[in-house]
Amino acid sequence: ERHSRQRLVVGNWKMNGSLAENASLLNGITAHWQGAEGVETALCPPYVYLSQAAEALSGGPIKLGAQTVSEYSNGAYTGEVSGAMLADLGCRYVIVGHNERRRMQGETSDRVAEKFHAAQQAGLTPILCVGESEQERDAGMALETIGHQLLVVVKRVGLEAFARAVVAYEPVWAVGTGKTASPEQAEEVHRFIRAELGELGARTQILYGGSVKPGNAEQLFALPDIDGALLGGASLNADDFVAICRAA
Ligand code: PGA
Repeated sequence: ERHSRQRLVVGNWKMNGSLAENASLLNGITAHWQGAEGVETALCPPYVYLSQAAEALSGGPIKLGAQTVSEYSNGAYTGEVSGAMLADLGCRYVIVGHNERRRMQGETSDRVAEKFHAAQQAGLTPILCVGESEQERDAGMALETIGHQLLVVVKRVGLEAFARAVVAYEPVWAVGTGKTASPEQAEEVHRFIRAELGELGARTQILYGGSVKPGNAEQLFALPDIDGALLGGASLNADDFVAICRAA
């Protein structure tokens, strides 16, 4: 089964960048892309820079994604951006349920499920983030927490919807901290997620995220159930981003 899944590396810029910084980052990535051709890749800049990135990446191998999406369709939702708008700008992917949004923007698993649904309705591929906090891991509740986060989405959209979705395992304690899950910890969770997805589990791309760097990427990608990475910090450096794409 391993080889039937396409490798995928996604860069999440979070709330970073400027027109000038993005231009040099995008240039650096596209100029050094050689050797990374076999991987599927996407970059997720802040909304306001989507058109800048779309233009810089147009016609090339790197796809565009967004960091979140409204659960509503177009209408009176001040400040929100719909899936239709993201598709209009050329997005292929959208991250839903990133732990920073669950924790800091009050996104419950129910809202995450609505966003997942809205993304698919707009023809986007959702990248569903799941992951336990340090306390949950210490209490032996990691798999239970992740199982619940998945179940809420499965109840809303059905298991079949995961034929057109990506899952990212991001242990909260590993995101932006420099601490990476050990290969054993990551593989255990990835295997669990695959099993929870039933028959589709063998086909669904499952990414690892949390302090992935050029120095640890290869070891993570060697694991049978890890199909790629969701990068934060490392996606802001052209050399690191390309190195990780090559390792995939
Ligand atoms: P990090 O972030 O690579 O900076 O740890 C990962 C993420 O939030 O997707």
